[in-house]
Amino acid sequence: MNKKQITFDDLKNRNFDTKGITKHFCIINCEKCNITTKFLVISFCKRKYRENLCTICYRLLKMYDIDWRNNNSKSQLIAQNKPEVIEKQRLSQLKRFSNGRS
Ligand SMILES: [Zn+2]
Repeated sequence: MNKKQITFDDLKNRNFDTKGITKHFCIINCEKCNITTKFLVISFCKRKYRENLCTICYRLLKMYDIDWRNNNSKSQLIAQNKPEVIEKQRLSQLKRFSNGRS
């Protein structure tokens, strides 16, 4: 009995609906390293990110995601760059400048 296969694009076109194809294999042509691998459709759809990636590249992506979420100090930096904060800094600099001239 030959195992049925589905490509990543086909799976995507189905909106990752696994109905009736749970025992199919999903063919992944990794978009990062070009390696072709097979996954059981059901296990592939359990992924958090349904990307066209092999196991290795997918793991890297997930690691990046964890790093990003752990790095909450970055959100403080973003807060400092908010328009209203920048505007305040700009005004205080202008004030200093005009005071120096008078
Ligand atoms: Zn890869």
